[in-house]
Amino acid sequence: ASLRRRHLLRKLRWADRVGPRIRLRGPDERYGHNVLLFCSNNYLGLADHPELIAAARRATEEFGCSASASRLISGSLELHRQLEETLAAWMGTESALVFNSGYQANVGLISALAKEGDVIFSDRLNHASLIDGCRLARAEVRVFRHADAGHLRTLLAESNTKGAKGKRIILTESIFSVDGDRAPLGEIASLAREFDAGLIVDEAHGIGVLGAKGTGLVGELGIEKQVDIRMGTLGKALGSFGAFVAARREVTDYLINRARSFIYSTALPPATLAASLAAIEVIQKEPERRKALWENVQVLSDGLKKQGWRLVSEGSHIMPVLVGEAGETMAVTEELLACGIFVQGLRPPTVPEGTCRLRLTPMATHTAGDLTEALAAFGKVLELRKKQNWTVHPTSASTSIPPS
Ligand code: PMP
Repeated sequence: ASLRRRHLLRKLRWADRVGPRIRLRGPDERYGHNVLLFCSNNYLGLADHPELIAAARRATEEFGCSASASRLISGSLELHRQLEETLAAWMGTESALVFNSGYQANVGLISALAKEGDVIFSDRLNHASLIDGCRLARAEVRVFRHADAGHLRTLLAESNTKGAKGKRIILTESIFSVDGDRAPLGEIASLAREFDAGLIVDEAHGIGVLGAKGTGLVGELGIEKQVDIRMGTLGKALGSFGAFVAARREVTDYLINRARSFIYSTALPPATLAASLAAIEVIQKEPERRKALWENVQVLSDGLKKQGWRLVSEGSHIMPVLVGEAGETMAVTEELLACGIFVQGLRPPTVPEGTCRLRLTPMATHTAGDLTEALAAFGKVLELRKKQNWTVHPTSASTSIPPS
């Protein structure tokens, strides 16, 4: 009741497919509405790509539906090895280890590596899975201001003078999942070297989308050698499911022995492993998908700004449209739905109070017509809101807006 009163109650909606055109049913509705999906992480439109589907089908027919146990119990499948070797070659690392999801990878990785006496330096807007990993690790956590390398330097220097004996580990996303901005990775990597700290980068939203080969922001910046550990997800741009850690063999060998989310959970099934392998192939041979995504981002960003909407950040495929309060934000989501566009509103605790937003994410497979429909809907909703004396919140997102 308390959540409902504060417009914070979450309920599931039901979709019939992965988009872009879906039939969406609300929590209390019997029949759905045909809408255009603009809020998934299926950025490249690979989730229903024929090659991924065919690979998953073949693997199921050949190997069955389940891995049947943890890999340390009943053995890894050949497909696990193939996927890990392919990921390591793609990321340019000595090895890679597959996890069952990004959440499990982060929680397992951080709690395995950081111990009591160690210090973790964590960006204030890091994802819940990174935060939960820190909580499980029992290490001291120092939170630096979002994407602020200067503040990180201050905290690192402070820990130096305090004569900290344990390891120091810096933790950041590359493209932030909710704000859509980039971490200053080049500067952070230099600080890691200067202060002899380890660097873990969560590329959940960079993999597949950024860099000449789709290897993420680290790949785009060419700083692979300066980042100790990269986590990437297989269920977003890759259109499959699961996640991986790419690092030195020493690290992945250690995780096999110490990451509890790896050890104590049934491994990914054949269909998923095969779909991920097919996705990596498609990403490498179809760079035009990335180009189409960036073109769609540009069209939407130009159109929305012209109408008067405010984006929390620019420069990535995650386009958070600022609304303000939770009630208003969910009203805008409903009004857009009535116009045939689905963009989910984000509320606390996912975002700070007063900075509620629509997490707009175009796909490479949205057509020019789809974008026109979306912009028309946003235009109509803004007019409707203005009639109710609503203005786009001018300052409330300042806590999360990046410096540049
Ligand atoms: N890290 C970040 C930055 C994410 O945005 C997400 C998913 N939203 C995850 C990790 C977790 O990945 P998964 O969905 O595969 O559990």
